[in-house]
Amino acid sequence: MSSSALETAYAIRLIPRHIEPPLDLNWLAEWFGVEVEIRPLPKSVAGLYIHTDYGPHIILNSNDSPERQRWTTAHELAHHILSIGKQSSDEVFRIKTDETAAESLCDRFAAEILMPAALVRRKAAEVKHGRFDKTALLANMFEVSVIAMRIRLRELGLNVTRVKHR
Ligand SMILES: [Zn+2]
Repeated sequence: MSSSALETAYAIRLIPRHIEPPLDLNWLAEWFGVEVEIRPLPKSVAGLYIHTDYGPHIILNSNDSPERQRWTTAHELAHHILSIGKQSSDEVFRIKTDETAAESLCDRFAAEILMPAALVRRKAAEVKHGRFDKTALLANMFEVSVIAMRIRLRELGLNVTRVKHR
């Protein structure tokens, strides 16, 4: 587990500095040589990471929101990074859902790349929310769900005041 975490940390370091949100995930997937496909999948499946003869693929559920698809892309990219060097190219690779440690690591990776701490801190300080909910504004800016942003802000200890509705 610790070596996987180190590999992920290394992968995060390889990602060029993310200056302004949102992160260009299509570019990133291309940079990792991963093909991204969007097609209808069962409701319970957000996405898949598959390694085929033609190379690594991420399949996203077309029924999900764009924000959810972005989170899934980032999560599945982490599976790709963790799998590098661990399989032959013809092996069909499917992540088992009971691998909870790997799953939480991939979610960690998604949060780190979609909402880098320094960038979220800067934007949270800059943004003038006026009558709007600051969490929702930041979520929109980073193209993540409001729930994902709320969790991230809490993790970073950023006290976001709720707007009073009149
Ligand atoms: Zn996963």
